[in-house]
Amino acid sequence: MTSEAERKMQFLFALRSKGVTDSRVLSAMEKIDRAHFIRNLFADRAYEDMPLPIGAGQTISQPSVVGIMTQALDVQPRDKVLEVGTGSGYQAAILSQLARRVYTVDRHRRLVAEAKAIFERLDLVNITPITADGSFGLPDQAPFDRILVTAAAEDAPGPLLAQLRIGGIMVLPVGQSDAVQSLIRVHRTETGFEYDELRPVRFVPLVEGLGD
Ligand code: SAH
Repeated sequence: MTSEAERKMQFLFALRSKGVTDSRVLSAMEKIDRAHFIRNLFADRAYEDMPLPIGAGQTISQPSVVGIMTQALDVQPRDKVLEVGTGSGYQAAILSQLARRVYTVDRHRRLVAEAKAIFERLDLVNITPITADGSFGLPDQAPFDRILVTAAAEDAPGPLLAQLRIGGIMVLPVGQSDAVQSLIRVHRTETGFEYDELRPVRFVPLVEGLGD
């Protein structure tokens, strides 16, 4: 039997070996226990580097992908961050350790309610969870220093580009939902947008409108 402490060490080691090297990201992922965000049936697999089901047909992302996306976002302590796709709330909790404030939106009311309860239990007071169609962003709170999308669109949604502050960064998967997608990073400059492609990924699709 492996002890909890050993499993956590292996978890961090696996993150490093998959390219998560930013020490701030690693310490956030050490502090926020992924087991809080996983349903009973799968609880003993919290530290494995794989996506797991969370209800409403959705999944909590693979930890190494959470780490790589968070690292690519290069969050600064004073940043206001928008996450599209709350899901279990795990990614938002990691972001909350690095940013000033995190707004996280999901189209499924039930997932938002469950994530909100976990944020309260863990005393993560700088996260605001909201039920909304995130493809339109959150115009009332814009602009954002950083935007992270954890569901795949065919292209970067226009409203999200518009809500990114000049100098800001957005990280998102793009591509057809049933194919391998690309994780891309968008920098907003004074004059436009610069794109770079990071790696292949696979996410559930960004779907229009609210769910249940
Ligand atoms: N970040 C999550 C995993 C996201 S799974 C975590 O850490 O657990 C992708 C999520 O995107 C799903 O919960 C899905 O409901 C949500 N989603 C899909 N389309 C959306 C949209 N248009 N607006 C908001 N959320 C959306």
